[in-house]
Amino acid sequence: MIKLEHIGIAVKDLEQSIPLFETLLNTPCYKTEIVESEQVATAFFQKGESKIELLGNLAAGGVIEKYLEKKGEGIHHLAFAVSDIRAEMTRLAAAGFQLLQTEPKRGADNKWVCFLHPKTTNGVLIELCQEIAD
Ligand code: ZN
Repeated sequence: MIKLEHIGIAVKDLEQSIPLFETLLNTPCYKTEIVESEQVATAFFQKGESKIELLGNLAAGGVIEKYLEKKGEGIHHLAFAVSDIRAEMTRLAAAGFQLLQTEPKRGADNKWVCFLHPKTTNGVLIELCQEIAD
C-alpha cells in the first residue's frame, strides 16, 4: 500500500453534486468518466494531495443504485494506491480478506482496481488501485 488514493462518495444526482463539490472544494471537477461495466458515472476532484471520486448511477440496476437503496448517499469506499495490485491481492487473500474479484479490472481514472468485501474490513468497502502504465 502506497497511500490513500481517493475517497469514493455515492450520490443520487451527479449533475447536482458536481457543482456542489466544486463550490465546497473551491476547485473545478477535472474529469468525468463512465465505467460501463458497473453502470457507474464518476466525477473527480483534486485538492492538494487529496482526491474525491463522486459515483452516480448510470442506468437502472447499476451498482450505485443498489447501494443508494440500501445505504443512501455517503462515503462508498476508500481507495488505496498500490504498486503491484496482483501481489497485494495475493497478500490480502492469504491474510483472510475476501476479494470481490479474482482478477484486477479496469476502473475509472486509468486504474486497475480490485475491491475487498466490507464484511472482512470492518464494514468499509476498500478499493486497491494501480495506475495503468501507458
Ligand atoms: Zn474509487
